[in-house]
Amino acid sequence: MAIKIGILGYGNLGRGVECAIRQNPDTELAAVFTRRAPASLKIQTQSAKVASVDEIQNWTDKIDVLIVCGGSATDLPKQSPKYAKLFNLIDSFDTHAKIPEHFANVDKSAKEGGKVAIISVGWDPGMFSLNRLYANAILTEGKDYTFWGKGVSQGHSDAIRRVEGVQDGKQYTIPVDSALKAVRAGENPELTTRQKHTRECFVVLKEGADAAKVEKEIKNMPNYFSDYDTTVHFISQEELDKNHSGIPHGGIVLRSGSTNGGKNKHIIEYSLKLDSNPEFTSCVLLAYARAAYRLSKEGASGCKTVFDIAPAYLSAKSGEELRATML
Ligand code: NAP
Repeated sequence: MAIKIGILGYGNLGRGVECAIRQNPDTELAAVFTRRAPASLKIQTQSAKVASVDEIQNWTDKIDVLIVCGGSATDLPKQSPKYAKLFNLIDSFDTHAKIPEHFANVDKSAKEGGKVAIISVGWDPGMFSLNRLYANAILTEGKDYTFWGKGVSQGHSDAIRRVEGVQDGKQYTIPVDSALKAVRAGENPELTTRQKHTRECFVVLKEGADAAKVEKEIKNMPNYFSDYDTTVHFISQEELDKNHSGIPHGGIVLRSGSTNGGKNKHIIEYSLKLDSNPEFTSCVLLAYARAAYRLSKEGASGCKTVFDIAPAYLSAKSGEELRATML
């Protein structure tokens, strides 16, 4: 019997999870829940229902795992603790500084309902976090590096669009090649924010807007751009739609360590190059939904993160198959 999945929130991730379910035959989509009018959503899966989130409590016996696909800023801090007592649950909460608080809130609720929740699943946090942990446990003496990109930063793109005179815009974060080379060479450099990444912006101006003023405002924006070398390109809306409509991302996690009193050096590197950030993130969410389902069947409850889940729980293959083909 396939694992019955519910999706809460039908944005980029919600659509991505639906897409991932189609390539994982041990899972099936039972329903999509939304805060909007259900009739306004067009989903791909004929057999699945679209329902209002207000009806979600009627689905507790029809869904094995709920994947919460709301935004990290304001949706997930409310949604995950609210529904973790009703369903086994997965979310992609990515506000790193607030993860301990979010964990505590979800843990309380999941324990109350006897359910399993796995929070902060995705690639960062998620696969990158796992790789940082593995590398640190193995190379106890060394230095960690995370580079992001080349990819679209949704938050920085939103910040550009809020600048007066800007009609539309996209921002790419790009690792600095020379910094990456130095890390890979085992030089263990101390890198400032500016030395690690550059930011490239593609901006469509409103009619009559002052390009120089817009460029200056973007480059000097505190927290977003002022600590980086930023380039601004002005392009037409057609060009932006044609060449910059995707949501690619990725990055590299490295640990540069040594053994034998520094005599021998070792580099661990994990890299992602993603055409679609949400579609990839959704594949990770679905693999962890499989783990939550299995753990729940074993009688587990409470909140967990990627650190707590043994890798075999993620795979559709049996332990026997895994030992024979991947060990
Ligand atoms: P999104 O597209 O903005 O969707 C967020 C929510 O907004 C949806 O659940 C949906 O809820 C609502 N929504 C979507 N489209 C809408 C529209 N046209 N009109 C009104 N409401 C709409 O966000 P996302 O790209 O899916 O990302 C969700 C979160 O995932 C992000 O905040 C990010 O923090 C996290 N994330 C984490 C990782 C990681 O590696 N851990 C990677 C990528 C993203 P309703 O259906 O209920 O309206």
